Amino acid sequence: MQKVINGLIIDPIIFTHPFVPKCDVCICSGECCWYGVYTDLKKMEMILEKREIVKKYMDETQPLDESKWFEPIEEDKDFDSGYCAGTETYNNKCVFLDKVGFCSLQKAAVDRGEDKWNYKPLYCILFPLVIFEGKLTIDDEHLERMHYCSKSKNQTSTIFEAMKDEIHHFLGEEGYRDLLEYKEEYFTNLKKKELHYEIER
Ligand code: SF4
Ligand code: SF4
Repeated sequence: MQKVINGLIIDPIIFTHPFVPKCDVCICSGECCWYGVYTDLKKMEMILEKREIVKKYMDETQPLDESKWFEPIEEDKDFDSGYCAGTETYNNKCVFLDKVGFCSLQKAAVDRGEDKWNYKPLYCILFPLVIFEGKLTIDDEHLERMHYCSKSKNQTSTIFEAMKDEIHHFLGEEGYRDLLEYKEEYFTNLKKKELHYEIER
């Protein structure tokens, strides 16, 4: 039986898929940001509205010309507005990634005392989670490209454990509570199945 929370099917792989205990850009240099990201049209408009603020948090490796920040707008039902745009890459990384490996959008929000994810595209907050065809699941294709967090020797946790704050932020209090219940239910059923299998053998 599929679990649906906030209109999204929950892929239970998020509970078990191995991952690093936490992101650490001092180790990975923010590699997941090297390719840019798709963002909802509304978020793109917000970023452009705040462009003069964002520019203050960019360095010489990033373009200050905002016409170089986004790709053309596309239709996509996985985004709330029904439209999205990719961030452009520049110097082989997302235009918003600085030379150290930090996101200028997040730096701006933190420095101004706002919620750290205020200007950040949803998929940047969620990665390695993704919404694909109405399902909250794992972006395994992109994850496989990573040289730190995709390596089994570094994966001492799970995506769920490492991403609790992000998932909570995304689903909200009630949705997150539902998810915890589903997780319990999922592992209980898994144990029952394993026991059944042992008895059958
Ligand atoms: S998802 Fe991987 S590459 Fe991206 S910041 Fe976290 S550890 Fe680094
Ligand atoms: S917007 Fe920020 S977090 Fe998202 S890919 Fe670009 S640099 Fe990374």
